[in-house]
Order: sequence, then structure tokens, then C-alpha cells
Amino acid sequence: MPDLRYKPESAQRTEIPRPKRGEGQWALGFTEPLNKNEQSKKDDDPLNVRDRILHIYSKRGFDSIDPADLRGRFRWMGLYTQRKPGIDGGKTAVLEEEELDDRYFMMRVRTDGALLSAAAVRALGEIGRDHARDTADVTDRENIQYHWIEIEDVPAIWEKLESAGLSTLEACGDSPRPFLGSPVAGVAKDEIIDGTSALEEIKRRFLGDPRFSNFPRKFKTALTGHPSHDVAPEVNDVAFVGTVHPELGPGFDLWVGGGLSTNPHLTEKLGVWIPLDEVPDAWEGVAGIFRDYGYRRLRSKARLKFLVADWGRAKFREVLENEYLGRPLVDNASPESPLGHRDHIGVHEQKDGNLYVGVAPTVGRVSGTLLVQLADVIEQHGAAGARLTPYQKIVILGVAPDRLDSLVASLDRIGLSAHPSNWRRNTMACTGIEFCKLAIVDTKQRSADLIAELERRFPELDAQITVNVNGCPNACARTQVADIGLKGQLVMDENGDQVEGFQVHLGGATGLEANFGRKLRAHKVTSAGLDDYVTAVVTNYLADRRDGEHFAAWVAR
Ligand code: SF4
Repeated sequence: MPDLRYKPESAQRTEIPRPKRGEGQWALGFTEPLNKNEQSKKDDDPLNVRDRILHIYSKRGFDSIDPADLRGRFRWMGLYTQRKPGIDGGKTAVLEEEELDDRYFMMRVRTDGALLSAAAVRALGEIGRDHARDTADVTDRENIQYHWIEIEDVPAIWEKLESAGLSTLEACGDSPRPFLGSPVAGVAKDEIIDGTSALEEIKRRFLGDPRFSNFPRKFKTALTGHPSHDVAPEVNDVAFVGTVHPELGPGFDLWVGGGLSTNPHLTEKLGVWIPLDEVPDAWEGVAGIFRDYGYRRLRSKARLKFLVADWGRAKFREVLENEYLGRPLVDNASPESPLGHRDHIGVHEQKDGNLYVGVAPTVGRVSGTLLVQLADVIEQHGAAGARLTPYQKIVILGVAPDRLDSLVASLDRIGLSAHPSNWRRNTMACTGIEFCKLAIVDTKQRSADLIAELERRFPELDAQITVNVNGCPNACARTQVADIGLKGQLVMDENGDQVEGFQVHLGGATGLEANFGRKLRAHKVTSAGLDDYVTAVVTNYLADRRDGEHFAAWVAR
């Protein structure tokens, strides 16, 4: 394995004792693949699969696809096989992956925090309508996700995406996954610093770069200069968070090692100040540490969070400065994330006198048709475009004040409310059993039904309560940082039968009081009993809360 590390002239090696049992860390000499994923990446750079899709598989059809590409390298192109319909959640853990595989694909398009023009939104909508049975979901990583994609259609889809400045490159896989950017970057009145150029530069320099196409596992990036910390920086592998140095002015702190799933960790804040134009170098350094020192033996221990937990922030910073940047970083106190919601829903003033409008599709589910309608609304009202949010929402930017009322009414007519109920605004759901091969339970439809019922039962709720619904322990919809986090699993019903249900986590939060929701062992609920369970918890909270006490604080009491 070649030594790919960037070594500035002034670099010095930090003494790191070689562990007795190799974890597959390249930098310590353990370069032999220790599992089949590592072997597959060594056999062929996953980026090479693009050419095979374009020139072989799309022409010869599904059956021509090499299994190692189908279930491995396709992910680097944002493609996963989707779950065969009709296989219940009880079979997820017992069937082989090929038995769960359908002949259709889920396709993820990354937006990386970019402003989508009306033309780009239209292209996204037309792809969903024409190639994906009219599916399209807004994900909590600012992607558009399609289903029912056929391999023969992929070249035409890519061509259309590329003409709109979009791609699926490295939208999945052990790669630089889609970047989260502030949905209001460059326009928000209260912004500390606009990080758009740094995010664009990271993308330009490192996306599709073979030096960064083989990480130990996924690598999630978030960057925001907004004081609300609107990109969930606490749960990303690397996050740049806007801050002000008393003498040097606005810049970014660097947070590393966050992630949820079965071993949740919040990011460690390095307490530094990085100027805007040096953010890409810092990203390269952190990504380099992950590539070179990340644990590759066990997939379950391969995320950056495990290395950061073992090293601690001081050693991480020392290695970053000495081996990768070749210079010390500037000390600066880390900013604290504010309490409260960060979704930009509703109407807000921009610094240029225009307005932005955040709207809430139900659990991110839109459709190709709806996106085409959204493009019409943007165009007809002369708005600048739209951005997706890490909360499965959409923000329309650059709306002239005299067009606002008409725009809000038009959005409402297509099902995108700027004034949603708490439940529509604050419920997220992952893909779930409809399409995901790892799922145990249904999420999207179950959540939509839950929202409708809670809107009926609590029409005038005067509190913000978040509900995150996940189809398995993987936490794609951030189970542990919701007020009510629901983790899909099989549970016993009153007759002793195994049925779809959820393990409940209560009182999770990001921000000032960031913590993981309490997993209450006794709190397991069947999917059928979910409406009543949430109703009981919310009723108790409303009856028992003290003045101004938010849900997570009430749970912690
Ligand atoms: Fe699939 Fe589980 Fe992620 Fe949901 S949380 S999308 S079920 S892997």
C-alpha cells in the first residue's frame, strides 16, 4: 500500500506506540487488508466503477454486474441495491444480502450545501418523475434520494445531473460523504462567517481524489458560519463551526469525532481558530489522519470517533499540527451551541433586504412531480433558489418582500408549508423497510401517520418536541439526539407475538445541553401503539413541566 500521506517539509512524526494487536492502521504499518471490505478496496479503487457502469453494466443490464461492484464499489457512485418488496423485518438479520437485493437501486444525489437554481430543482424533479417512479426524498444529509432506479438509466441520469452542476460521486461508501453546509450561508443577517467558498474548495480539491477514496469507513463533514450551528456539528466526523477570535476576527473552530449509531459520540472541540482560506487544508489534515490512523480491522470500530476517543483531543491536535499541517493552530475558545431548533422554518429576513422561507415536507418525502412544481414556484416568483437542510427540510432563498405572500401561498398549495405544526416540522424519519436492506420496521409511512394523528390530538402545542424515527439501530435519522428518539426493532405485543416496534430514547439534544437520549429499557413500544405512547409522554410533559422547561430538561429532571 503506498504511503499517501501529505508530508510538509516541516512535518515531524509524533511518537505513537505500535499497538500489540494491529487494528489495520496504515500509518503503523498494518497495510494488509483484514476484512473483505478492505480487500475489495485494495483490489480496485472504487472510483473505477464509474467507467464500468457507463460502458458495460448500463449496456449489458443488471445480470452483468460483478457482485463485488454491485454490493461494494457501486456505493462510491451513490448507488445501493434497494430491498426487495415484501420481506419482513424479522428476516433482515437472517437472510444473506443477495437474498434481500432487488434489481433496482437507491440513488443518492449530493448537494453539499449548494444553492440549487430553479433549473437544478427542475432537473432533480424530472429525474424522479421520469426514472424513479416519481420518488424523491430530502435526506438529513442534504441529499435527494431516489428509488427504483434501473442500471440502464444511470448514464442519462448522470448526464442530466452534471448539466445541473450536481453528482452522485462518493455519496455513499468509505469516502468523503455529502457535506452539510448552512442552508442560509451568505444570506443570514446574523451569520458570523460565510463558509461557502471553503466548502466549494474542499469539494473541488478532494471529491473524486483517489488519495481520499479509501477511508476506513464513511467520513461525514459539516460546516457552518451560522450562530445556530444549523448542521448538527456535534454528530459529524469533522465539523467547522463559525467563531470569532478577539483579535483575528471571524474564522472556524474545528470539531472532530462525532457520530451516532450503536456507539454514539459527540465531537471533541479542538478550541482553535482557522481562517476561511485555510479550512480546506485543515479538512485535508483530518481526512489524512482518518485514512492513515483509522482502525480498519473491524467495521464496527472504524469510524473516526473511536480513534478520537482513544487519542483524546490534545493528541489529535498534536498529530494534525505536526504531521499534516506542519504548523501550530491558533488557540481560541470554542463556541457553545445554542439551545433550540436550527431548521430555518418560516419567513426570515436576509441581510440584503430579501427574505428566505423554510418549508417542511413531511419527513422529507417529496416526489419528482413536487420538485418540478417547486421549480415553477421559484421561477415564477423570481427567487434565487433553494437549499436542503439537515432536518429533511427545504429553504427558498432570495425572495423579494413584495412576492412573499404569493410565494408562501403557492408553496402551501403544493404541500410545502412555511407554518407547519410542531409535528410536521420536528419529525424526521430514515428510509426504513420500504427500501433499506438493513431495516427492521417501516418508518416513513408510520411517521406520516403519527404526524397526522398528533396534529389531531395536539393541535395547539406551545412547545417544540422533536421525534426522530429510525428503522434499525443505525440511527440514520439521529435517534439519540431527539426529544423522542425511536429505534426500530422487533418487540412483543400483548399476545406475546413479535411485531414491528421501537426502543425509545427520551430527552436527547444537540446544542448547549447536548446529550444522548436516555434509553429506557422498559420503554419499548409496538408500531401499532406508537400514537398512544407519544400521546402519553407528551401529555405528562405538558402537565408536569415548569415555566419554560423544554422537553429534554424535563426528562433529565
Ligand atoms: Fe436503513 Fe437503519 Fe439507516 Fe434507517 S437507520 S436508513 S433502516 S440503515
